[in-house]
Amino acid sequence: MSRPPTRRALLRIAVGTAAAAAPLAYTARPTHAAPTGAAPADPLAVRAAAASAVPVPPTWGVRPFALDQVTIGDGVFRHKRDLMLEYARSYPVDRILAVFRANAGLDTRGARPPGGWETSDGNLRGHYGGHFLTLVAQAYADTREAALKARLDQLVGALGECQRALAEHGSPRPSHPGYLAAYPETQFVLLESYTTYPTIWAPYYTCHKIMRGLLDAHTLAGNTQALDIASKMGDWVHSRLGHLPRAQLERMWSIYIAGEYGGMNEVMADLHALTGREEHLTAARCFDNTALLDACAEDRDILEGRHANQHIPQFTGYLRLFDHTGEERYAAAARNFWGMVAGPRTYSLGGTGQGEMFRARGAIAATLDDKNAETCATYNMLKLSRQLFFHEQDAALMDYYERGLTNHILASRKDVRSTDSPEVTYFVGMGPGVVREYDNTGTCCGGTGMENHTKYQDSVYFRSADGNALYVNLYLASTLRWPERGLVIEQSSDYPAEGVRTLTFRAGGGRLDLRLRVPSWATAGFTVTVNGIRQRAEATPGSYLTLSRRWRRGDQVRISAPYRLRVESAPDDPTVQSVFYGPVLLVAQSPDPGFRVFSFYKDFTLRGDLADSIAPEEGRPMHFTTHGLTLAPFHVADDTRYHAYFKRAEPVVVFGTRDSGVPNRARDTGPTFLDALWARAPFATSGHFVRAVRALAGTWLSEGLFSRAERDRVIAAAVDADLGHGPAHGDERAGSGGSLE
Ligand SMILES: [Zn+2]
Repeated sequence: MSRPPTRRALLRIAVGTAAAAAPLAYTARPTHAAPTGAAPADPLAVRAAAASAVPVPPTWGVRPFALDQVTIGDGVFRHKRDLMLEYARSYPVDRILAVFRANAGLDTRGARPPGGWETSDGNLRGHYGGHFLTLVAQAYADTREAALKARLDQLVGALGECQRALAEHGSPRPSHPGYLAAYPETQFVLLESYTTYPTIWAPYYTCHKIMRGLLDAHTLAGNTQALDIASKMGDWVHSRLGHLPRAQLERMWSIYIAGEYGGMNEVMADLHALTGREEHLTAARCFDNTALLDACAEDRDILEGRHANQHIPQFTGYLRLFDHTGEERYAAAARNFWGMVAGPRTYSLGGTGQGEMFRARGAIAATLDDKNAETCATYNMLKLSRQLFFHEQDAALMDYYERGLTNHILASRKDVRSTDSPEVTYFVGMGPGVVREYDNTGTCCGGTGMENHTKYQDSVYFRSADGNALYVNLYLASTLRWPERGLVIEQSSDYPAEGVRTLTFRAGGGRLDLRLRVPSWATAGFTVTVNGIRQRAEATPGSYLTLSRRWRRGDQVRISAPYRLRVESAPDDPTVQSVFYGPVLLVAQSPDPGFRVFSFYKDFTLRGDLADSIAPEEGRPMHFTTHGLTLAPFHVADDTRYHAYFKRAEPVVVFGTRDSGVPNRARDTGPTFLDALWARAPFATSGHFVRAVRALAGTWLSEGLFSRAERDRVIAAAVDADLGHGPAHGDERAGSGGSLE
């Protein structure tokens, strides 16, 4: 097992790089290799890596696999992907292009724009088309369907015509060369004089989406014209911003919404890596938002009151700028920013923000309502997490990734078919009795939503830079093809359901370190066998376990990590809690507009497990009942009103039917008497249990939390209580949740 490097390690990497030489010379001209036209006949055939991919910088200790090297297997993830593939295959291309053609003075062929924010007069129009390009490019990389490639080529060709027409006759007058958008260049001019939203919306945000879609069409599907169009757009960005004074740029980026530029710095850095043009890197740095960048580099948390999704992608861009410049503050800012969001501002589903805004650090219980967790923000936090992992292999990054992917992203796609709506969420409420609202054609979350469900495979596996190690980050059913190593590895898994995961070497072999992620929730054991033989490796939750050996075709690794029912408390109110089954957020189904109140300890037996209070529902895997309510996995995406948080009430010290009548007082630092007691479970016998109660009640007395009489009543109740047998004597219910060792 390798110990993940600390945050300082990232800084050391940064310092080392800066000392070496800057800028880093790893840009490369694209090879413009044409992709294969159809899926290989042999499903296990090893495909060549995409020749047009963005070059990987030497600063990455770990690298991703191309989207087409990992195939998602059967299961919930594939089902949600298939729903989005229908949309990618069917949605009329002319409707996507209508706003671009109208702006360029070209025939719209009678097509209506998609709607939502993507209308003929919407000030963000064009952004959805950018996302749609990415959707189709990802869908093609995944499926290699010729019809998807044809749609992509049609989109790119039409955008090229628009770019040319805008330069020639434009709207309202010829635009500057390279300009491409679905509205006049005026929005960009107005931003330079600090015009605010909603007179203009977010011009560079739209520009980013279009450029990213074009680069994805190039890197994922080999469309060379897309790179040419994007490169001209990059030239145009440089011509607009390259000469502006720093102070003017800073003021532009500080404007709410209007100054929102998505990941312009990221896409310009990627463009630079593909074209080798210095202007593109210079333009990327024009997007430095210095006040926040410097604060985060110094680990000063000034996020409260800022727009969440306006800022998250900026930090992914800073990481890319670190890759190119070696400037340490970019990397430090990204790492520190992640820490300000992923822990203290994250709801149990992995999302952040209330009404799109960052609230005070740790304000979770205080901010629960029907407008939490904008789905775009999680899309961008996942991107940032994986980019950070390329630099620093900290298991916490992938713990967050798993949480956000499983409980927010997977839950954001409604379980219905549609060819005219992406059917995805915008906000996801975390307050009591709320409901998810889907659709979102033409909105930001509709755009990122289209992307989310067609790239589930992008972080399941990573490889070390030297090719000697394979990281298994997520336990999703999938097949990895790794051509440089001649390896094909298949993972069978029912994830997110509980069960054994099996990795089988279908082709290839040789010496390889297999790094298996041990999730932080895996506190009920994590066992690994290779060809049936139990491995004696240390498996600490929240780390990676390494299996080093020479692998052969047919080798099988079986991984078992039983799920347990567990609760997580809000940092600002420990009585506001969510319940999880392993990694899976369970929500209580109820339209009640107030918090539901749950008490669990009174039902505890000597094993002291939530499975004493929360029972599995007959015939419905992953569903439970408690307090007369159904608890359902949140990724089941329907129109049922739910409670992701409940109020925990344990007011009196009670053991089964024995009520001591003594208040269950808490220490200042948080835990109540019963919290502290049951943290010591399981108890092998009643005698062990009574001894623990006696000792802890003595502590509560010495700290002034119990009177002598109260201590005695608590001990008497424990002596009288009948909490069944300890787990050592066998427990019929242990198998129900499969959660006990
Ligand atoms: Zn959004």
